[in-house]
Amino acid sequence: MDRPIAPDPLLNMTGSGGRTASTFDVNYFFDRGTNSPSICKFCRDLHNRNPAEFDNKYPSRMIQYSKNTATSTLRLHIEKFHLLDYLDLALQKDRDWPIQVKVVKDCITNGYSLQELKSLVDRGVGLKNLPPHPVIPTPNPGSGDTNDDHRSGTPPFSIAIFHKSLVNFIIADDQSLQVVECKEFRRLLLLLKSDLKESDIPHCTKIKSSIIQAWKDYFVVLKTELQVHTLTYIEST
Ligand SMILES: [Zn+2]
Repeated sequence: MDRPIAPDPLLNMTGSGGRTASTFDVNYFFDRGTNSPSICKFCRDLHNRNPAEFDNKYPSRMIQYSKNTATSTLRLHIEKFHLLDYLDLALQKDRDWPIQVKVVKDCITNGYSLQELKSLVDRGVGLKNLPPHPVIPTPNPGSGDTNDDHRSGTPPFSIAIFHKSLVNFIIADDQSLQVVECKEFRRLLLLLKSDLKESDIPHCTKIKSSIIQAWKDYFVVLKTELQVHTLTYIEST
């Protein structure tokens, strides 16, 4: 018998239907009613605290949109003004709603993790036009690669990339998650980088949730790609 297809983790909602989950982000940022305008709660609160200062600082910022405004337009507002709050929300444990803010989705497609994106935004880096995420190449002895140390594609060290590489290592080599608990393995990592701290190396629980999160994020990307391919196919027939 065929193995059952893995269910979409994003449809595994408790209490709410898939439709609610797909607009969770928009409803989190906006007050929306069937017959009332959509108002950004974050901007409204900021405005109410000091209206004069708000109008002076953000003279052209729109807070209120008509009731018929598409969620894609509301997400542009989130992308433009509340990206850090959005990434914080997306990073919450057990997220069960899909990433639909375009710039974030594009970056995930390019190989960035939400955590990496958050630290970039934190540092004031714009997410548009980021280069594809650096990948660690798999050495291929038969490729005739003359680059002796295979370091040309190795990204500079950061804790986020280190964690992502650990996840990649476990997935690619079908390693047990317990490998990160192995004392010798942890000592080896510490040996390779002198300023790495024991607390920088994640434990099993953290690695497990990172793998599940990576799977959820790539599932969104895969679903989008399948939709695009289906549309392209329909359009070309
Ligand atoms: Zn706003």
